[in-house]
Amino acid sequence: MKTNYHSHIALCKHAEGTIEEHILKAIELNYEIFGISDHAPLITIDNIPKEATYLHRMKTTELTPYIEELNRCKEKYKKDIKILIGLETEYFKTHDTYFKRLGQKVDYLVLGNHDYSLHGKPYSSFQVEDDEQAIRYGENAVDGMKTGYYSFMSHPDLFLYRFAWGKVAEKIAHTISEASVKYNVPLEFNANGVRRGTIETKQGTRFIYPRKEFWDIVKTYNCKVIVNSDAHYFTEHDDEAYHLTHKLAKEWGLNVIEVL
Ligand SMILES: [Zn+2]
Ligand SMILES: [Zn+2]
Repeated sequence: MKTNYHSHIALCKHAEGTIEEHILKAIELNYEIFGISDHAPLITIDNIPKEATYLHRMKTTELTPYIEELNRCKEKYKKDIKILIGLETEYFKTHDTYFKRLGQKVDYLVLGNHDYSLHGKPYSSFQVEDDEQAIRYGENAVDGMKTGYYSFMSHPDLFLYRFAWGKVAEKIAHTISEASVKYNVPLEFNANGVRRGTIETKQGTRFIYPRKEFWDIVKTYNCKVIVNSDAHYFTEHDDEAYHLTHKLAKEWGLNVIEVL
């Protein structure tokens, strides 16, 4: 069954296309279930998150039109495809009520965890520099999963973008896997990491994410794993990375589910 629960549109300012254009593409490619989960608007509470994060999110005033347009397309194309209305959000304890309300407006929320807070300050998961930050990334993921607001966690190995694999990373992989099982939040195996290409390391050639070492631990917990395109451009609904990601998830022996 062809499904994708993670895709973006131009509203977030780092993707292309309208809702309807992406849906037409998905129909052409024979998707049966297609979720659009653009980055949710952010609000600042206690100086969290970073202002820079706003550059990559829709505005608060754009949320209602986004949902209305998705509802219109859902109805218009209901014979061709099942459309789901999603939002990818961060999680901050300070914003709990805000994320809860967002979840009530749409079909599902995705836990992006691109940003987290530590000692009252905002940090980016793409720039995890030390053990304390990495551990906090993991704890924040658990805080989010625990709420029950999220249908899956996207790219749970994102903290490895900068952070080296080792004892601490290993521990975080256990923490996230345990929470995934305990709170029944599937983990996403994300094609955008594959799209970013490979790097050379002392241990050989590898992707920045998905990271084999991380997923070998996930496997021991038999966590539910959902493979998504995380498409920001039309071609990414069916590109080489998309197919390779599906293939890798099987090769690495993960418990892949196709439907949420
Ligand atoms: Zn994005
Ligand atoms: Zn993301």
